This record gives sequence, C-alpha cells and structure tokens, in this order.
Amino acid sequence: MYRIFTFLAFALMCSFATFAQKAERNHAEKFEQLGTMLRSPNVYRTASGAPGHLYWQQKADHEIEVELNDDNQSIKGWQKVTYFNNSPDQLTYLWIQLDQNERAADSNTPKMATSSINPRMSMRQLEGIVWHDQDLGYKINAVKTMSGDDIPVTINNTMMRVDLPQPLKAGEKFEFTVDWTFNIHDRMSFIGGRPGYEFFEKDGNYLYTMAEWFPRMAVYSDFEGWQNKEFVGRGEFALTFGDYKVKITVPADHMVGSTGVLQNPEEVLSSTELDRWEQAKKSYDKPVVIRTQAEAERLEKGKSKDKKTWIFHAENVRDFAWTSSRKFIWDAMAVKQGGNDVMAMSYYGKEGNPLWEQYSTRVVAHTLKSYSAKTFDYPYPVAISVEGSNGMEYPMICFNYGRPDEDGTYTDAVKYGMISVIIHEVGHNYFPMIVNSDERQWSWMDEGLNTFMQFMAEQEWDRDYPSRRGPAHKIAPYMASDQRLLEPIMTNSENIIQFGPNAYAKPATALNILRETVMGRELFDYAFKEYSQRWMFKHPTPEDLFRTLEDASGVDLDWFWRGWFFGTDPVDISLESVSWYKLDNRTPAEKKADAKKAFDKEESYISKTYNAKDIEETVLEADPATRDFYNSYNPFTVTPEDEKAYKDFMARLSQQEKDLLNSGLNFYELKFKNVGGLVMPLIIQFNYTDGTSEVDRIPAQIWRLNETEVSKVFAKKKEVKSILLDPYRETADIDESNNYWPRTFAPSRFELFKGAAGVRGASSGDNPMKKAQRK
Ligand SMILES: [Zn+2]
Repeated sequence: MYRIFTFLAFALMCSFATFAQKAERNHAEKFEQLGTMLRSPNVYRTASGAPGHLYWQQKADHEIEVELNDDNQSIKGWQKVTYFNNSPDQLTYLWIQLDQNERAADSNTPKMATSSINPRMSMRQLEGIVWHDQDLGYKINAVKTMSGDDIPVTINNTMMRVDLPQPLKAGEKFEFTVDWTFNIHDRMSFIGGRPGYEFFEKDGNYLYTMAEWFPRMAVYSDFEGWQNKEFVGRGEFALTFGDYKVKITVPADHMVGSTGVLQNPEEVLSSTELDRWEQAKKSYDKPVVIRTQAEAERLEKGKSKDKKTWIFHAENVRDFAWTSSRKFIWDAMAVKQGGNDVMAMSYYGKEGNPLWEQYSTRVVAHTLKSYSAKTFDYPYPVAISVEGSNGMEYPMICFNYGRPDEDGTYTDAVKYGMISVIIHEVGHNYFPMIVNSDERQWSWMDEGLNTFMQFMAEQEWDRDYPSRRGPAHKIAPYMASDQRLLEPIMTNSENIIQFGPNAYAKPATALNILRETVMGRELFDYAFKEYSQRWMFKHPTPEDLFRTLEDASGVDLDWFWRGWFFGTDPVDISLESVSWYKLDNRTPAEKKADAKKAFDKEESYISKTYNAKDIEETVLEADPATRDFYNSYNPFTVTPEDEKAYKDFMARLSQQEKDLLNSGLNFYELKFKNVGGLVMPLIIQFNYTDGTSEVDRIPAQIWRLNETEVSKVFAKKKEVKSILLDPYRETADIDESNNYWPRTFAPSRFELFKGAAGVRGASSGDNPMKKAQRK
C-alpha cells in the first residue's frame, strides 16, 4: 500500500517541533572525538600516529651460554647483557623479568585465582587449588659488574630490580652478567604454561620447548616508564629489542631448533644432513627432509652421554627461544621475501606424522607470503614451526599443536586446528615480535591484529576454510551475552572474563568490519600497511594504531573506536517501519475524482451495508428536487481557483522539475531503531517486485543527530516487494529477526532429548556458539 504526498515545488516545509525537555540525551555522545580518552601526542609519538622526531627505544644485547641437563630436566645459564640507555632519562635501576617464578611453589598465580568446589571436579581443577611443592622458579646465583663485583638486586615475584652502581645517563650503556639455574617443569601437567618439557613414556624421551628461559630485560618506554607489572600467567610479555649470541649445549644426539641462524652447522650436523640442508635452500616448491623419521626413531633408542654445543646468532629480536630433542624430524624449504630467501622449517616427533610432514612447513611458507603482502617483507632469515602440543610464538620460532591419533588417522578438526595454529603462531612474528606492542597491558594489540591476519591467510589457503574467528556474525553471540560478563577491548589482559572472544575474536572482527564495511579494502589495506611499516621494530600503543588508520585513510573513525574498543554495546539495528509514497502529479480534476472515491470508501461501513436496502427504499424515494437543494455544494467539483493554482504551479516548474514530477518514482520512508547501542552503517537490500534487488549503503554518521532512531527516504523507480537489513551479515547484528520488512520468521530448531543425560548436556553451556545457534 502507498500513500500520496503533496509536491511543494521543492520548497522546504519547516516543521516547528515542540522542544520538549527530554530526560535523556539522544545524541552528541557516540560521534564525539575521543579527545581525552587518548594519550596526548608528543615529540615521541605524533598526532598522526607515527613515531615522533624524538622517538627512542632501549636496546639490550645478549651473549648467553646455556646447558640443558636431560637427566634431571634442568638448565643452567650465564649471560652478559649490554643495556643501551637511548632514553633522555637517567636511570638508577633496571628491571628484569623472571618469568620462571610464576610457576614457583609460592607463586601469586594460584593465590589470585578464585576457586570453588563443584559436585563434579576435574583432577586438573583440584591440582590447581592444591598447587605444588616442586622446586620450580629461578635460582639467581649472581648478578655482577664486568669487573666481577656483585650488584644488589631485589626480587619482587616475577620481577627483579637491579640497582645500578651509578646512575646510567642518557646515551650510555651498562654491561653486567647474570648466572642462573632452574628446573624445567612438565608443561603437560596441571602447571601448564607455554614452555617446559613433554615426556614420551613409550620411548622414554623428552621434548623441550625452551622459552621464558633466561632473565629478560623489561621494557622502559616513553609511555609507561618501566613495564614491570607482575607475570601471573595470562598477560604475556613486553620485551626489548637486541642482538643475541647464544651457545646451547645439549646431548650430542639431540636436534636443536632456535631463534636465529646456526653458526656452526658443520660441527652439529652430519655430512648427509648438511647436503640435504643445501638442497633445501634451493627448494622453493616443497620441503626437503633433513633428518628423516627413520633416523629420528633410531636416535630415540640410544641416550648419548656426549654433548654438542649449537651456536645461534640473531639480530634485532625481542626474545629468543629454542627447542631440543632426540625425537626431532626436521624439514625445510626456501621462501622468497623481497630480495631475500627465508628458510621455512619444521621440527616434529614421529607422533606428528603424517600431518606434519605434509602441512607444517608449507603452512609456514604460506603464512609468510600472506602476511608480508599486507605488512612488510619478513625480515628474519628463518621461520620455524615446532610440534609442541600447544601454541606459542617467539621470534622466528613457534611451538604448535596438531597430532594425529596413534594409528595415523586424524579428523578435519585436528587438521584445520593445526593449520590455524601454525598460521597464527608464525603470524605472531609480525605482531608482536616485529611490531612490538606491550602484551602485558594489551593482549588485543597482538592477538586481535594477528587473528584478523590469520583469518585472511586461512581464506587464501582454502576458499572454504572453516575459519573460527573473523566474520562479523560469529562474534554476535559474545556481543549478546550478559553485560556483567563483558568488558571493553581496551581492558588489561588480566581483567577479562571471556578472554578468547574479547582479546582475539572481537578486535579481529572489528578490523574485518573496518576493512569490508566501514573503510573498504583499498583505504584499509593502505592504512594497515602504513601502521605495520611505521611501527616495524618499534613499540606502538593503541593510540598509534587508532591514529594511523585514520590519518592514512582520511576516514574519521573515532565513533568506531569508541563503540568497538571502548564500549561493550552490541549491534542491534531494527527496521521498524516502511512507508510507501508516490509524488502527487495529478490535475485538479483527477485529484477531486480520487477524493470522491476515497470519501465513498470511507463512508462504506458495516451498518451502511446492512441498511443499504432500507436506504434505497426510503431516501431514494424522496423528491429529487428537494434532495438537490440540500446538496447544492459539492466539494468534489473542480473550481476555477483550483485550475488557476495548478496552472500557475506548473508554469513555475523547469523542464527538469516537470520530469521529476512525472517520473513515477516510489518513495520509501524507512524508520530504524538502534536497539543494541553500537552505531553502525545501514546496509539495506531492496528486493523489487520484478525479482531484481539492489543494496544501498548508508554511513554510520546517519546516527549523528539521533543515536536511537532515524528515518531515511529512498527513491526507487521500481516497486519494492521486501527489504532486508544487513543482507551479507557484516555488522554483527545480534538480533536479525528485526531486520526484515515485511517481518518474516525463520524456523528455529530445537532438539528433542530423551532422558536426564541429554537435558544436562543441553544446559551445560560450555560452548556459547552452540548455545546461541540453538537459541
Ligand atoms: Zn596468539
């Protein structure tokens, strides 16, 4: 049904609405500039989001000698640190991170965790409450100056303050040594964690993934001072760039994979392995196996008492990790990056096959190609994936998940899980290993950006890749959850309830929405690359990201950061009503005739219908002359005044205006309500009666003057049959049932359970996605 509205020769009708006092403000909130919510720009960080002209960062070079004891799973090390004070400040102390202390018997981690007794508890939960009395954590044997004098230190849980003999002036360096040992823990036990060992009972061997293994310099920066917030297990690391020379001594039959470039291959590899290594350097299409499964299985059976020292050098890395085991199979291939060749490699035990020999190194190579195209050429010489039954990233090396069943078969879930984890962890080389954000404070700055990049790499690996995070509609169940379970993305890692959705999925989705819906690929990709290149090998803050994406694209995104990163509102836009209008281009005669018709229709009601017979019999029988006398005025007669007004009006119109008047356009007035709170663009699909359809995109700024209700008129040549809001599911709208006109409904499915077990399963609620689908 449509209504007709009067055409007023383009004159604006001013309607004088009553300015009633409103209890709540309905605008000037969501679109205000972020202003004081962001750190002020300064000489170190500009208002454009780039490093400022006086940008500085500290540097810490390391020489480390470390020995692994495979008999009692312990490690001892000695390191020389050269700390360069590039800041304009004088330092009286340095802070060093002692992450191993997080697993110590007196760690704060279990104390800070809440706990409760449930009727059904896992062994893990119970062990987490009881904790342990194992001898874990660092033993710092000595901290000395280069002349051998002890330096006083104070250990505060996972942080150690080194009190400098004299203040370290701006531009000066300080050299010192640290001597330490610790027992390596079983990371497959309830203690968990990123590094540690895994014991393989069947062949009696250990696989060590060594990270957080040496006392690491904390970051001193212009925006935080010392980042010395205690490590309690979740908020990851803030680390200083530097150059490393590391000597790793392990049993002679072990294979070592590490950050950096192996300096003495001829001392630690066999001549066959050296030959294969040379072949791998020229193999760009597939990996070359350098140590085979058969060779590794032979080594598993012996236990060498000899030792070998592997030497690795790495430049400009913020961390250093390595892995060692006699179980390792090793393969490698070359990947072109800019003018350089990078070696993509994998280390895995036989338990990883056949999945690992088929996919791991190829996925590493794919990840480098995909990520580099969107950021910068991968600048390091190697990229390594290690099968470690977990997922954790370090510069040039990462430990990943994905093990088939014992008979070598595997599900799609394991295969895709493995590929996703490898893409993700290798991808972390870009964020935060090279674009070195502060993970202790902001998990989302690396996890969110990396998960976004991971989504794109997955879709490039396989068009139908079952990506878990990235598409807008997949975040809707999280956004729809109880506000008491939500916090903004701009929240410290330790204070987040639903960590995965908050720090990984929501920021990744937000970036994907920026790229696909708000900015468009061209503007977004340029700005995102600009951010990556500006902050490559530097320490960015959230402000630097927010500002760069705006500065390089010319798109005002303050409303977007405000809603998606500083708020918890979900998106729920409702298409409330649709009215259809046509322009009034009738002559006075046509107009009056229509008015008569309308009047007659109005006057036809039930009593009249029932009385029709009586009327005929009584009224019509009256004398016609008398009747005409009383009805001499006919409001439906066209008067000379009507004719003149019409003529004058038509005479004032230009040809263009006349064409518009006679265009026959349909006008659809759509009313929208912002139910969820988070403002978003309106993406409207008009389905026409002729079977075609069209999508109109209205920017989010339509909500500027009223953040809760807006109306918008669309002029269409064709007649509209139905309208659908957000047809491509790109805004993360949590209630799509109010996106239709006319309102439609899709069948929800409900499962029928028989017996108590099914009922319990249905309400256990450990998978929010499943629950939401059921809803
Ligand atoms: Zn991650």
